[in-house]
Amino acid sequence: MPELCRLTVREAAGALRAGQFTPAELDRDVRAAIAARDGTLRCYAWLAAPQEFPATATAPPPPAGERPLWGVPGALKANMATRGEPTDCGSRLLAPWRAPYDATVAERLRAAGSHFLGKTNMDEFAMGSSTEHSAHGPTRNPWDPERIPGGSSGGAAAAVAADLAFYALGSDTGGSIRQPAHCCGVVGLKPTYGRVSRYGLVALASSLDQIGPLTKDVADCALVYAAIAGHDPRDSTSLAAPVGDPVAAAARPARGLRVGVPWTLLAEGVDPDVTADFEATLADLRAAGVTVVGVDLPTLPYAIATYYIICTAEASSNLARYDGVRYGRRAGAAADLAAMVAATRTDGLGAEVKLRILLGTFVLSAGYHDAYYRRALAARELMRDDFRRVFAACDAVALPTAPTAAFRLGEKLADPLQMYLSDVFTAPANLTGLPALSVPTGLDRAGLPLSLQLIGPPLGEETLLTLAGETERARGFRARKEAAWISKR
Ligand code: GLN
Repeated sequence: MPELCRLTVREAAGALRAGQFTPAELDRDVRAAIAARDGTLRCYAWLAAPQEFPATATAPPPPAGERPLWGVPGALKANMATRGEPTDCGSRLLAPWRAPYDATVAERLRAAGSHFLGKTNMDEFAMGSSTEHSAHGPTRNPWDPERIPGGSSGGAAAAVAADLAFYALGSDTGGSIRQPAHCCGVVGLKPTYGRVSRYGLVALASSLDQIGPLTKDVADCALVYAAIAGHDPRDSTSLAAPVGDPVAAAARPARGLRVGVPWTLLAEGVDPDVTADFEATLADLRAAGVTVVGVDLPTLPYAIATYYIICTAEASSNLARYDGVRYGRRAGAAADLAAMVAATRTDGLGAEVKLRILLGTFVLSAGYHDAYYRRALAARELMRDDFRRVFAACDAVALPTAPTAAFRLGEKLADPLQMYLSDVFTAPANLTGLPALSVPTGLDRAGLPLSLQLIGPPLGEETLLTLAGETERARGFRARKEAAWISKR
C-alpha cells in the first residue's frame, strides 16, 4: 500500500474504520517513512519501540462517533510526560530522567484511540524559535533542509509536514506552536489559556504556556483539539467551560464573520512576500463573505519586551528545580551541595537557557523588580484592554504568523534579539491568554510556506476554526504543497 503516511488523521481514521487497512499496517508505514527520512530531518528526539497491536489489529473498529483517533498514531513534544519514557525537553540535564506519570493530554489521546511514535525535538526547555538550541542538534525544515523548522516545537511541525506523524502536540509560550507551523506549512493552534490541561507539561513560563495540536489541515486540528480540550481537576488553571463542537465549526462557512486587521503593525520589518500573501488571503476571505475592518492595537509593539521579561522571570523560578538533586543528571565529585548544584547546572544547561535564567533573575531582583517585572505586568493588562476593545468590533484579529518565512540554519544564532523578533506577532496571544491559530496560505519567492494567524476572544476557538477552514478552502494550500513537493518525494 503506497504511502499511507501521507493521509490526514481524518482520512486515515475513516479508512481504518472502513477496514481498508489495519492499525498495524498504518503504524508500519509511518515508521518506515521515519526510518527513511528522519536521519536527515531529525524531527524525533526519541522514538518509541514499535507498538504491538494484539487488540486493535484483530478487534473490529469502535462504533462511529467513539474513539475518533482509533489506530492513528501521533507524536508528543519532548516536554510532555509519558510514564517510564524519556521527556528530556531537549536538555542534557534531563536526558536520564524518566517521567513517573502520564500527562493528561497523553491520557486523553490514548482514550481517543491514538498512540505515540515518540517525542519530538525542541529548543531546550522550549526556549527558542528555531530548534537549534537542542541537545540533540537542530531539526531541519522538510521544505528546505538548509532552513530552520521554527521553534520551539520544530520537531513536531517538521514531523507533521514530512508525513512522519499524523499529528503532533506542541507547547506554545510565545509562539512555539504557531511559528513552527508557519515555517513548515502545517496548521497550529494555541488554545485559550486554561483550555487544555498542562498537567504533565514541563513548565517554561506557567502564566503563558499552553498545549495545542499541529496538524496537516484544519479539520484535523479540530479533531485533535476536541480530543485534548476540557476541564482537568489536576491543573488548577484549567477552565470548566464546555468545549462545544470544534469539528463542526471547522466545516462551517465563515460568511458574515468580521476580521480586524491592525495595519500599522505591518508597516515595518515585514517581508514584502509576507504582506502580499496576507493581502491576497484577506481578499479571498472577503470574497467568501467575511468583512475585513481596520483595528488599532497600540500596545502590541511592546509585546516582545513584555514577553521577554515575564517569560524569563517565570522560567528562572521554574527551572530552579533542576538542581541535580531531584531530576536527571547530577555532576559528580563536588565538595558540597552548592558546588554540586552549580556544577550540575553549568554542565547540564545550554547557553540560551543560562542567558534566560540570568535575565529572569535580574528582572526579579530587589531594585529592578519594580522597573521591569511590575511594569511588564502592567503592560500585559493594557494589552488585554486593547484586545477587549477590539473584539467589540470584530470576531477575530488577523495578522501574519511571523514577519518572514523560515530562515537559514545559523542565520540568527549569534543574535538573540533577531531570534526573539520571530515572535513579534505571536507573543501577544500568550500575554493575553487568547486563542490563536496559524493556517498555511501560500508560498514566498523561494517556495517556502507562509501563513495567516487568527487571534480570537477568550474561548473563541470555534470561530478561529471556522475562519481557518474558509481560508484553507480559499487558498488551496494542500494542492500548492503537492505541486511543490513532487520533486522532493
Ligand atoms: N520563541 C519564543 C521563546 O523563545 C517562544 C517559545 C515558546 O513559545 N515556547 O521564548
